[in-house]
Amino acid sequence: MENKFQFYNTLTRKVETIIPHEEGKIAMYTCGPTVYHYAHIGNLRSYIMEDVLEKALRYVGYDVKRVMNITDVGHLSSDADTGEDKMLKGAKREHKTVMEIAQFYTDAFFDDCKKLNIKTPDVVEPATNCIPEFIHMVEVLLEKGFAYVAGGNVYFDTSRLPDYYVFSSQSEKELLVGVRDDVEEDANKKNKNDFVLWFTKSKFEDQALKWESPWGVGYPGWHIECSCISMKHLGEYMDIHCGGVDNIFPHHTNEIAQSESYLGHKWCNYWFHVNHLNDKSGKMSKSKGDFLTVSLLQEKGYDPMVYRMFCLQSHYRKPLEFSYEVLDNMSAAYGKLVKKIAELGEDGAVNEQCFASYRERFSDALCNDMNTSMAITIVYDLLKEDTNDATKLALIKDFDRVLSLNLTTAQSKESQSVDAELEAYILAKIEERKEAKKAKDFAKADAIREELLAKGIAIKDTREGVVWSVQ
Ligand code: AMP
Ligand code: ZN
Repeated sequence: MENKFQFYNTLTRKVETIIPHEEGKIAMYTCGPTVYHYAHIGNLRSYIMEDVLEKALRYVGYDVKRVMNITDVGHLSSDADTGEDKMLKGAKREHKTVMEIAQFYTDAFFDDCKKLNIKTPDVVEPATNCIPEFIHMVEVLLEKGFAYVAGGNVYFDTSRLPDYYVFSSQSEKELLVGVRDDVEEDANKKNKNDFVLWFTKSKFEDQALKWESPWGVGYPGWHIECSCISMKHLGEYMDIHCGGVDNIFPHHTNEIAQSESYLGHKWCNYWFHVNHLNDKSGKMSKSKGDFLTVSLLQEKGYDPMVYRMFCLQSHYRKPLEFSYEVLDNMSAAYGKLVKKIAELGEDGAVNEQCFASYRERFSDALCNDMNTSMAITIVYDLLKEDTNDATKLALIKDFDRVLSLNLTTAQSKESQSVDAELEAYILAKIEERKEAKKAKDFAKADAIREELLAKGIAIKDTREGVVWSVQ
């Protein structure tokens, strides 16, 4: 296939054409969420843009295998290996066990992804599933002399690498040497940037999850999980590694240090980083306490698609500032767009020439460092184009494989939800199901649920009663 997909590679600091290890195939890894709280819409900006990357690569013909971890152990409050495990913090906050917290927020994360049309990666693996793999990697790093034991913990020795600061330019490297001056020193570390591979002793005694290891009972460091989980599912070579820009240092820097020392060769050629969503006070973060979630936006009446469109209208490499004013404008623009699309008829034959030329323009925009706002402009241009509705509709359906904005279905959902006849039918069915449940006729109750589902109506039993939604 023709290679023309380009994006900014943080490793080389250049926009580059991707050349995968295996022709036509992309091995892609995404750092997953730390599941101690809801994902905020900043986190979800990263996952939306990574979703577009995956879908754009598929759109231009690549066969993508995408892996993501779930961080359910080892991510401490400070990226410099100090503070409390974030999971434990979540468990204490909610008086639950760490595993309960992990399950609850993993489910909440995928619910949010579903609302935002973010595809679930092909493989999702929680860190706590892979303890033997982590131990093995740490053992090899010790054997090869890249790690040392001090004060009960195992550390990676960054002085063993000729170039630890792989993502930085020469002048940035000079600055970075002093960057950690404000961080509480860990006296066990030989070098300031050495990082923990395995903890047995930490500053707190009540770590909930612990495992046997050759170095005593303990738990893994955060960075090791991404190296091991990606290698477990993608092998020794990876094409694209993604994350938010805050992951560049130290997380991705440390992932490269340990992975390449373990493997003895280069590991991943392309690094894709999404810039932050900020609010007026700066970067949105979970530790700030009061943060915005998709559910909160929904409660305020915004369709999650409006937030997706807000993200797509801006370039992934630029910081993006959130405001309700901009979201209101986006909401109006989205409403108008889907209305216009809903007015298109399906009659006539698709004009193949027009289809091909628009498809090429759309794919060029994606291949050009993922210019998603240009991709949306192409949708507007198409609506104004002098061609028949059937061609327009076919193209918009095709584009929505990447944009995933429900462009051809949103309007029909809206009109369905206000259809009084349909609503009366649903309410009657819900009532009938209630009666069936009262009479303990669960087979009938289930059959009613299925009947509604077949018509695209999902029902959910909540404390407040039965709620229904159009799928
Ligand atoms: P976490 O759950 O904290 O491990 O973060 C999950 C993902 O969200 C990572 O890829 C982070 O780099 C990314 N991220 C964190 N904060 C933001 C933000 N304000 N804007 C965009 N991405 C973010
Ligand atoms: Zn990671």
